[in-house]
Amino acid sequence: MSEAPRNLNTVSTEAAAAASVSGARGMLPADGALEKTPLETYVPPAKPSLIGLSRAQISEHLAAIGVAPAQRRMRVQQLWHWMYVRGARTFGEMTSVSKDMRAELEKHVTVDRPDVVAEQISNDGTRKWLLRLPSGNNLEKPHEVECVYIPETDRGTLCVSSQVGCTLNCSFCHTGTQRLVRNLTAGEIVGQIMVARDRLNDWPSPVSSSLGEEKTHRLVTNIVMMGMGEPLYNFDAVRDALLIVADNEGIGISKRRITLSTSGVVPNIVRTGEEIGVMLAISLHAVRDELRNELVPLNRKYPIAELMQACRDYPAASNAKRITFEYVMLKGVNDSLDDAKLLVKLLKGIHAKINLIPFNPWPGTRYECSDWDQIEKFSEYIFNAGYSSPVRTPRGRDILAACGQLKSETEKLSARERQALRAMAMTD
Ligand code: SAH
Ligand code: SF4
Repeated sequence: MSEAPRNLNTVSTEAAAAASVSGARGMLPADGALEKTPLETYVPPAKPSLIGLSRAQISEHLAAIGVAPAQRRMRVQQLWHWMYVRGARTFGEMTSVSKDMRAELEKHVTVDRPDVVAEQISNDGTRKWLLRLPSGNNLEKPHEVECVYIPETDRGTLCVSSQVGCTLNCSFCHTGTQRLVRNLTAGEIVGQIMVARDRLNDWPSPVSSSLGEEKTHRLVTNIVMMGMGEPLYNFDAVRDALLIVADNEGIGISKRRITLSTSGVVPNIVRTGEEIGVMLAISLHAVRDELRNELVPLNRKYPIAELMQACRDYPAASNAKRITFEYVMLKGVNDSLDDAKLLVKLLKGIHAKINLIPFNPWPGTRYECSDWDQIEKFSEYIFNAGYSSPVRTPRGRDILAACGQLKSETEKLSARERQALRAMAMTD
């Protein structure tokens, strides 16, 4: 697809991921099924990583290796600083921690991030990393998730995954066709940010630190939870991870620069406002329940009116903190001017920004992307009604990094693995 026409108000993709459900206990979810239950549980490694743990959890590890109660708080602060401000990848680098304690820590825990199995760099500078995660249930093949970095002139956005596959089943989303689902742990979510900063060399250099200079130019400045998975179906891990990412004694990315995108898990939108407080994006995609039921089957559980009410009640919704509504442009499906009119009506009273996403086709999809002149008309109508309506410029298409294109290789299970999964599903 060509670039967005000049006269459109364009922004670059926040890459988005595609997600869609997978999973399911019975391994073979019916087409159009509302949701899948994660089949897999996380099996922690013998030596766990401290990445993604809360301060209290780190303190428990320190207690286990005999650190005196009076010292623990200070030691936790030191570790936190080394991990999240300096990006230390080994305890050996943590020179302000005593040698004995470093040796003890090394015996029991790590500061490991997920393994990077592939890195792709697009000709537009977008980078995609394929990360390997352990699988549970004794499957031989580990899981893989993707995370995508999109550099722009004034910011660098990292698109982060929350699940292997997705619990939901949106009909236009490639991730949704993936059957196997596993929730990521908080460590695996924070780990994606660590990996990106490692690969981009986005930590302060030891020289500038020792001179007391702060490296001010950061490459990863924004986070979008728009990779694989539905973040609000993995609420606790996503909350714990984002609070670590926003912690200003560590990575320190402001909550205003973190956006969580959801297909509309209403009860957890309320919790997001209360417990996380980041920016919200809603994958709306249709303005009538009948069509949204088909595109986003979760709509059958939480219809549009309930979703809009949750948005009106979202505590951060103010002029300064608008909610973004994502709308994928599907030719002849949701792209008419009547749809645009209804959209404007629906958003009345909500401080909203509408993000039009050109549909990214994938093999076997029944949808097509709307024509550019139709996207332009749609965008203009919304703009004239007073809403900002940027069209996301597809980024990283040559490396399949754009919205809706992320899908794990884990999908391709061997016959033996499929048999193992079926057997497990039957004994559940
Ligand atoms: N599960 C969450 C976040 C991940 S999807 C959600 O649905 O919001 C990120 C964005 O990409 C969503 O708006 C999603 O609807 C969109 N998307 C999925 N598949 C797409 C495709 N093939 N083309 C364009 N956008 C897509
Ligand atoms: Fe899951 Fe989002 Fe894809 Fe829907 S659009 S299947 S919620 S990742």
